[in-house]
Amino acid sequence: MNIDKLFEQKKAVLSFEIFPPKQTTSIDVIYDTIDALAPLRPDYISVTYGAGGSTSKTTVEIASIIKKKYNISSLAHFTSYNSTKVEIDEILTRLGEEKVCNILALRGDKPQGAPDDYDAKPRDFQYASDIARYINDNHKFCLGGACYPEGHPECPDLEKDVQNLRFKVEAGVSFLITQLFFDNKVFYRFMEKVQKHNINVPIQAGIMPITNRKQIERIVQMSNAKIPEKLIRILDKFEHNSEAIKDAGIAFATEQIVELLANDVRGVHIYTMNRPQVAKEMMRNLGSLFYTINT
Ligand code: FAD
Repeated sequence: MNIDKLFEQKKAVLSFEIFPPKQTTSIDVIYDTIDALAPLRPDYISVTYGAGGSTSKTTVEIASIIKKKYNISSLAHFTSYNSTKVEIDEILTRLGEEKVCNILALRGDKPQGAPDDYDAKPRDFQYASDIARYINDNHKFCLGGACYPEGHPECPDLEKDVQNLRFKVEAGVSFLITQLFFDNKVFYRFMEKVQKHNINVPIQAGIMPITNRKQIERIVQMSNAKIPEKLIRILDKFEHNSEAIKDAGIAFATEQIVELLANDVRGVHIYTMNRPQVAKEMMRNLGSLFYTINT
């Protein structure tokens, strides 16, 4: 189903994000993950796209299987960075053939370790709004986009970043998923800004349950997300016990979602990190909340 239709039907949409296994690992491992996520009844599952298109084949394959085998709507992430129109058309055609109808239209980034001249050739698409417009003009997909409650790392001026976000929506993106954040106040402030700029598409809050300290350090480096004092104290206290830090991370993320749902968030996107057990533990407490809101 098109995800924009899901937002019409539901007050709060629930989705899980997974990533394709490493190229050296069999693709079958991901099916164990989906097997475990499917009974949690997400409205859709999204599949990330490796930087520079490194997972394009597996992303398409996994998004297709989620739909065909599990009968769950899927969202294929897609980055245009450094790809030509021809390469992009090829992948979009394959997604269409596989009946994957939802795409998260992203600009993407230069892959880590890419050679210095990686950016040398002129790019067909500069921003996510350019690729979104191109897809809308030439293909038939329901499009989502990314947004950043604490500002995109290249655009620390949040006001400007939100102005740029408008271009994405004007280009045809019909829902947005946020970068992860750990402080709901940051999200509420962002929503006020977004509304001031007349961006009216539904926005799903991206939530990542933290299960160890290394993970949070890497994520903060990549995402610009700030760690609130409350979470720092939890990490300091429990980081030396892997079970305790996992339980605390799950409890923290669950509490964030409970509060967001009580404040009428239009949806929650859980970055599962391919750990279905963590999602399962969160949904034990959240399942009845989504059910109550949507019935
Ligand atoms: P854009 O929207 O193009 O924004 C990039 C920068 O350009 C921002 O600073 C913005 O303010 C600025 N900008 C935008 N339009 C204009 C304009 N017209 N004029 C001037 N400046 C402008 N990466 C992957 O490689 N694979 C994935 O699967 C993936 N999934 C993601 C999922 C989510 C929910 C999120 C939040 C991010 C994801 N990313 C993924 C990371 C993403 O590719 C990076 O954050 C990337 O740096 C920006 O992509 P974008 O689509 O947001 O870019």
